[in-house]
Amino acid sequence: MRSWPLPHLPALPGQAPALRVRDTRTGEFVTAPGPKAALYVCGITPYDATHLGHAFTYVAFDMLVRVWRDSGLLVEYAQNITDIDDPLFERAEQTDVDWRELADSQIELFRSDMETLRVIPPTDWVAVSDFLDPLETAVRDLIASGRAYGVTGDDGRTDYYHATSDADYASEHLAGIDLIKVFGENGGDPERPGKRHPLDPIVWKGVLGDDFRAEGAKPGVWRPGWHIECALISRDYLGTTIDIQGGGSDLVFPHQEMTSTHHHELDVTVRGQMNTGIVSYEGHKMSKSLGNLVLVSKLVQRGFEPMVVRLALLNHRWDSDWEYTDDELNLAERRVTRWRRTRHTGGAGASELLETVRRHLADNLDTPKALEAIDAWAEANEHADDREGALLFDDMCKTLLGLYL
Ligand SMILES: [Zn+2]
Repeated sequence: MRSWPLPHLPALPGQAPALRVRDTRTGEFVTAPGPKAALYVCGITPYDATHLGHAFTYVAFDMLVRVWRDSGLLVEYAQNITDIDDPLFERAEQTDVDWRELADSQIELFRSDMETLRVIPPTDWVAVSDFLDPLETAVRDLIASGRAYGVTGDDGRTDYYHATSDADYASEHLAGIDLIKVFGENGGDPERPGKRHPLDPIVWKGVLGDDFRAEGAKPGVWRPGWHIECALISRDYLGTTIDIQGGGSDLVFPHQEMTSTHHHELDVTVRGQMNTGIVSYEGHKMSKSLGNLVLVSKLVQRGFEPMVVRLALLNHRWDSDWEYTDDELNLAERRVTRWRRTRHTGGAGASELLETVRRHLADNLDTPKALEAIDAWAEANEHADDREGALLFDDMCKTLLGLYL
């Protein structure tokens, strides 16, 4: 899938120290050994335009990409688009629009929001609708080898992966969670008669080989399983070692755990998992059903500069939950104004500032601390006159923070 343009990334002197990030599953710090660094991030299901929760996630992984690049790693980044899935079909039916048109319009909106926020595009942006043949082949292989099995009910045939033969599946890091209950509440079907285990994930819904891609075929009658989709796309585009698998915190279980069991089957090693914090508004996690979505495109329409929105997101560390208020944008607006002044005046110690910012980012992508360091420097240099310092500051903001002042 065509993504969006790469933002301008001026070269910076020197190199960042190696980045360590905290693995959500183990709590331990992980570092990509290089020279390549592979990142897979679970992408959107295109039925809710980019709200601040989405933007926070993709800007967080954009920071990971920037810091990896700055430390000399060659980054390979794949992200999927789940453009064939039940929530999309349901939304299309509720709003009486063609599901493909809905998906395409939402993909376009996401694309323009990412460009506006100066996010570095993935190396490979893969729509499931363009990846059906490899998925179908993989599911057929699983069935042939007895690793997947079919169950037929009133709504036709569904194939499941027999995940519970994997000893690491849903183990220690999920201890204490009622997995069957959580699975049922998040689109799973633990109660379905005929399943060998309640936590076996769907690999294919509908009859394989039916002409499901034909014009006019009813959506929702067939679809690939979401979890095997991410496992297979990541393996095909990144290989068998993935440094970081990422997504929102709401994907830890069931989605990423089920993806992980498919990874085991495919001999894929994932070195670390990063799950970004939840953004809430008016006391609740942003969701269409609660009607409390704050859309990036709407904020920009209201007159907030995209760089103000980006700076507001960077003011929270990637793994923290936070609540959005308009004050977040007001604070970011004041910061942008102050920093713009320094962008012209510059100041002594810009090289030291670059080092400090790099040090904070290398420590689990601590963006709030990096921003505070810039605040202090900007305040101290408000009346300086240092062209060289000004240029270095401006380049650092662009390349390391994605802020085009
Ligand atoms: Zn995924």
